[in-house]
Amino acid sequence: MESTRRRPQHKANEGGATERSAQWGRAWEVDWFSLVGVISLLCFAPFIVFYFVMACDQYDCSVSQPLLELYQGKATVLSIWARAPSFTWTAAKIYAVWVSFQVFLYVCVPDVTHKVVPGYVGGVQDGARTPAGLINRYEINGLQCWIITHALWFANANYFHWFTPTILFDQWIPLMWCANILGYAVSTFAFLKAYLFPTNAEDCKFTGNVFYNYMMGIEFNPRIGKWFDFKLFFNGRPGIVAWTLINLSYMAKQQQLYGHVTNSMVLVNVLQGIYVLDFFWNEAWYLKTIDICHDHFGWYLGWGDCVWLPYLYTLQGLYLVYHPIQLSDAHAFAILLFGLIGYYIFRSTNHQKDLFRRTEGSCSIWGRKPTYIECSYVSADGRNHRSKLLTSGFWGVARHFNYTGDLMGSLAYCAACGFTHILPYFYIVYMTILLVHRCVRDEHRCSSKYGKDWKRYTDSVPYRLIPGLF
Ligand code: NDP
Repeated sequence: MESTRRRPQHKANEGGATERSAQWGRAWEVDWFSLVGVISLLCFAPFIVFYFVMACDQYDCSVSQPLLELYQGKATVLSIWARAPSFTWTAAKIYAVWVSFQVFLYVCVPDVTHKVVPGYVGGVQDGARTPAGLINRYEINGLQCWIITHALWFANANYFHWFTPTILFDQWIPLMWCANILGYAVSTFAFLKAYLFPTNAEDCKFTGNVFYNYMMGIEFNPRIGKWFDFKLFFNGRPGIVAWTLINLSYMAKQQQLYGHVTNSMVLVNVLQGIYVLDFFWNEAWYLKTIDICHDHFGWYLGWGDCVWLPYLYTLQGLYLVYHPIQLSDAHAFAILLFGLIGYYIFRSTNHQKDLFRRTEGSCSIWGRKPTYIECSYVSADGRNHRSKLLTSGFWGVARHFNYTGDLMGSLAYCAACGFTHILPYFYIVYMTILLVHRCVRDEHRCSSKYGKDWKRYTDSVPYRLIPGLF
């Protein structure tokens, strides 16, 4: 079976789209401001991650204490560094087994879940059209990998006892060095591969700036063989499969240290577990999101998925190991409700767009025929295509209401940790920056792609995240 194919093209439309060349997608030129940002991130992002994890390990999760001690001369960068656990071969072996196992599940175990679980879409699926006009095909088996991995985790915890369930917490900093090695190795490999043997040369983008190319990626969909897709693998596994395991390991550590698990830890496990399961249940949908269908594969995705995601998205659980907070029933219930409403908005908004695009508008949104704006665009091969932008349902409330729901869910995870430290609130601050930046980035891309049709859309749905505010 072919892993990449071209779809029959639509005829050119009358919308004047041919005037626009296909320059949509990530930037082709880099200004000085972006360049300074890129180089700073490449050099310092690993230390940001280290800082948060070290703050928990050495300063009981206080973000300000290390800085204060440095300022007062009570500690030096070298003394903090010396106290932090370093790379160990034990951690390297654990990490190698983990990543190899995920590669094995991804490449060697074709999806059977879609054959036995009603309503689940898995197996071979089409991605979105790339700027060069290609349609990549993907083996969607993330849910199956997640189930197998977690079944083994529970089997080990309850029967086999090959390793302690607190293993991830116990090895957390040594594992971080291994994750960094993989993150930089895979980004460097993808960078060199783009020059030496790109998977689809027509979909490569070179800005002329080596740092920007390294960070934001050159190849659109780098692959090894037909099916090992770097973006799908690194985005979904090992990072997101690990997310729920990491939380389970934190839960086990609480049990080991205090003899019980707090309701805040259960809340974080449940709410983040729903988010992760949702991701795998909808993995085929995920092929149509920005990460897969617009971003190129570079350090931003490669290192980000190996290090940033597993280490910083799980800070709430880590914090709760050091601060085992038991919330009042009312507090816990309010957070659960807020998180579930956020999740409902996030999922429904994404579902509405997916349904609308899949059925080309022949569906019902909130019990009515959807309203939309017809638009046109040109791909890099000069061909014209037509598309539709939904203006009803949640997409009529704001242009990125899925992000609003996501932010509500993120705030709920943080609020489960009480209000005494800022460290667990890193996630909501980061997600706000990420998603607001995404709004701007995505709208810039859509405006270049759809031209005046995008303007008609923004006139019809004027707000981005919160109606009346932004
Ligand atoms: P979207 O799913 O919102 O996709 C944006 C794209 O959808 C646009 O580029 C455009 O693509 C199309 N589009 C925009 N408006 C409309 C419309 N009105 N009708 C139909 N199509 C439209 O964004 P993301 O891929 O960024 O996010 C997907 C989800 O993933 C979100 O819920 C987000 O919160 C979540 N997310 C989570 C992250 C995390 O780290 N936890 C990180 C990033 C995202 P086209 O060119 O096809 O028209």
